[in-house]
Amino acid sequence: MLSWSINLFRIRGIQLSLHFSFFLLLGYAAWEGFWDEGLNGLLWSSILLISFFTCVVLHELGHSLMAKYFGIQVRRILLMPIGGMAEFETIPKEPYKELWITVAGPAVNAVIACFLIPFFWGSGSLVSLDNTNSFAGLMRSLLAANIIMGLFNLIPVFPMDGGRILRALLAFKLPYVRATFFAASLGKVLALIAVCSVVFFPGYIPFLSPNPVITVILFSFIFFAGESEYRYILRREKEERYIKTLIEQNRAIIDTLATSTEEPPFL
Ligand code: ZN
Repeated sequence: MLSWSINLFRIRGIQLSLHFSFFLLLGYAAWEGFWDEGLNGLLWSSILLISFFTCVVLHELGHSLMAKYFGIQVRRILLMPIGGMAEFETIPKEPYKELWITVAGPAVNAVIACFLIPFFWGSGSLVSLDNTNSFAGLMRSLLAANIIMGLFNLIPVFPMDGGRILRALLAFKLPYVRATFFAASLGKVLALIAVCSVVFFPGYIPFLSPNPVITVILFSFIFFAGESEYRYILRREKEERYIKTLIEQNRAIIDTLATSTEEPPFL
């Protein structure tokens, strides 16, 4: 499913890709804008959506550039209707690296929000979308979007940013697999609560309610992503332990081969 995408361009060597379903969202936003206010509405809805996803890309770039700083290769940044995803070559096991890489994403949203704060003066709520089809309105909407994006990502639902921060903090004290297990378990419980609250008690958790369908898809995706990353970590740990045992069992042969000065025979 994740391979149904097109490559756009590279930013500092990192490929930016767009999932095909993104065009459905863009089409839906444009249609809704057109339905409400004609061509003008279509234009502003499209601009708002593209600007919002530009902030998502910047958020993912925060993660990616910090990962590159630590020598971790970034395969690509994939944009989907439910958000962005930076794909790393490997997940760092050192908690301090994961902490810095994870915090860098929401930190970008905080910096963007600081730049946009001047557009807030004289307007209403700090976190409400502005539908006034103007540049200032767009900036206010982006201010709200960045505050929500930054804070929403910090909810401790693994593998979202908050869950990764929790895993990294736990991994300072606990073995890595154990830390992942606790973070993933809490994440799954919270994701289930989020889905159930939207389905059975709509309106009880206000920030989940505006778009229940997206919320259910997002938290279902998070639930399974958390589970599959935990299983991946578990498998990697088992493989590493197996290789270590093999090396220990064959230590004598390896040492002999390493110290042997004999030329290998030609075949
Ligand atoms: Zn993030």
